[in-house]
Amino acid sequence: MDTLSLHHVPSDIGWIEVICGCMFSGKTEELIRRLRRAEIARQKIAVFKPILDTRYSANHIVSHTDQFLNSILVADPHEIVEHSHDAQVVGIDEAQFFNDDIINVCELLANNGKRVIVAGLDQDYRGKPFGPIPYLLAIAEYITKTLAICVVCGNPADRTQRKTKAKDIVIVGAKDIYEARCRKCHQPNVDELES
Ligand code: ZN
Repeated sequence: MDTLSLHHVPSDIGWIEVICGCMFSGKTEELIRRLRRAEIARQKIAVFKPILDTRYSANHIVSHTDQFLNSILVADPHEIVEHSHDAQVVGIDEAQFFNDDIINVCELLANNGKRVIVAGLDQDYRGKPFGPIPYLLAIAEYITKTLAICVVCGNPADRTQRKTKAKDIVIVGAKDIYEARCRKCHQPNVDELES
């Protein structure tokens, strides 16, 4: 269901939508779906992702189901403003990897009348709130939390399990390093992993 179908659709103002959840929950798929619908309505879109996230493809955002859209790689969130002048709809993927400047950038874009759609992980592999996402959730008009399916027990999953003992917060990710797990099956302390 579309988030906005529940609401009176705004006109002549901007707003922020956040799509958050764990890995493999379909965040990027949902972002791409919304952006494609905007394109079909002949709205100008601009799509961004942090330079850190080079999995699959440098100049596209790609979901785990291989849908993709052209995107611009940016190191500094302020570059998003520079590249968004003509856009009515701005999509930002993997927003958890940006520094906190992404918050002001999203506010600025929305205040300038743009629809801003932000996708990102709301929790890191320890189950802790991830980077700027919690703040973005607080200032967004619309929030969608996507759930995956726990690979251990089959319940709805909102956590990302890291399957290696490496402790860097950021390991950009492949399917063999992470999996989706529920609250009960999630093991935040990777030191206690068996392998
Ligand atoms: Zn489970």
